[in-house]
Amino acid sequence: MANIETIFQGEHEQVVFFTDPATGLKSIVAIHNSQLGPALGGCRMWNYESPQKALEDVLRLSKGMTYKAAVAGLNLGGGKAVIIGDPKKDKSEALFRSFGSFVDCLGGRYITAEDVGTDVNDMEFIFMETDNVVGVAETHGGSGDPSPWTAKGVVEGLRACVEARYQKSELAGLSVAVQGAGHVGGHLVDFLAAAGMRVFVCDIDKKKCELLAEKHRGKVSVVSTDEIYDLDVDVFCPSALGAVINEQTLPRLKCDIVAGSANNQLANPECGDELFKRKIMYAPDYAINAGGLMNVSIELGGYDERRANRMIRNIYYCMGAILQHSAQEKLPEYRCADRVAEKRIQEISRIKGRYKGENKPTFHGRVTRR
Ligand code: NAD
Repeated sequence: MANIETIFQGEHEQVVFFTDPATGLKSIVAIHNSQLGPALGGCRMWNYESPQKALEDVLRLSKGMTYKAAVAGLNLGGGKAVIIGDPKKDKSEALFRSFGSFVDCLGGRYITAEDVGTDVNDMEFIFMETDNVVGVAETHGGSGDPSPWTAKGVVEGLRACVEARYQKSELAGLSVAVQGAGHVGGHLVDFLAAAGMRVFVCDIDKKKCELLAEKHRGKVSVVSTDEIYDLDVDVFCPSALGAVINEQTLPRLKCDIVAGSANNQLANPECGDELFKRKIMYAPDYAINAGGLMNVSIELGGYDERRANRMIRNIYYCMGAILQHSAQEKLPEYRCADRVAEKRIQEISRIKGRYKGENKPTFHGRVTRR
């Protein structure tokens, strides 16, 4: 369990608690690692059952961001923020502006963005108090909702998986089970159906699936949230919750490839080992779902959609390299992705001179769009 002692012994560079009783703000920002650059990661607003749970979440999520940015080839570190509160009841202009002013006092070490429970409107309030926020509206020079870009990136990663698994570059003719028809899942269904895949989709909100089935008549079928694990499909695409690859679901999977947008898909590392043993190819989640992060990161130097497209295409090459490494070394894919991330952090940190006695992080994270 995380506490002050474990934080001091751990690997996070900085953990900051912000409170503002006047607005009800209770927030934690965790900077896991800034060796590659300023720590970028979304702000999650969640009704945590205790501050302890919020602390554990922000520590875990910020570490994940370090690995995601490193594998994505970005000059960014890993950080995350949480606001303790109910996003349906506790949001206000004052709360987000208060949070924005605290983010500002970190001087660019941490850059915030949307996450579960926050959206582009909340970013606008934060933006009134700090430049260190991305994912703001297009009208402010931002890039808006990152979800379509995350979905695009998943398609690129899936292409690499299909090439490695079936030695063909086309997705057409293959079948896919998409779990979740939310912001990312909805776009994914559109892209995969357009690419000629036979799509099965489920969501606890069945209406979302029915709309997609109607839109892509004959190509998309709705299935139940339980049935999704048993389908005899080529690809399983988790795009809703984490930990869906677990001891209960694993024996039910009949697919050749698991590739989807959800964060933390493996309930534990052993599930990644078991997928590998069963010869089910696994696209490491933080490598395949980095499209949204790539897209918002471009805002830091002035948003350019062509640059976003070019960057997201890199997910195909990055995934190809991870899969090749996995095949050569006979190592589960998730471990190869960790290796790629850790190697890059080590190499680039050395080049930036951190091991030459200048043990001072370099920050160049000021947003330049205003
Ligand atoms: P979202 O909340 O818009 O969509 C999630 C969908 O999953 C919802 O429609 C919800 O009803 C559905 N759902 C919940 N429980 C389910 C269940 N048991 N079975 C089937 N469906 C269920 O979220 P999103 O932005 O689309 O993100 C989806 C996943 O991708 C999350 O794990 C998120 O962390 C991850 N992710 C998102 C982005 C992004 O750009 N939005 C980027 C990286 C990773």
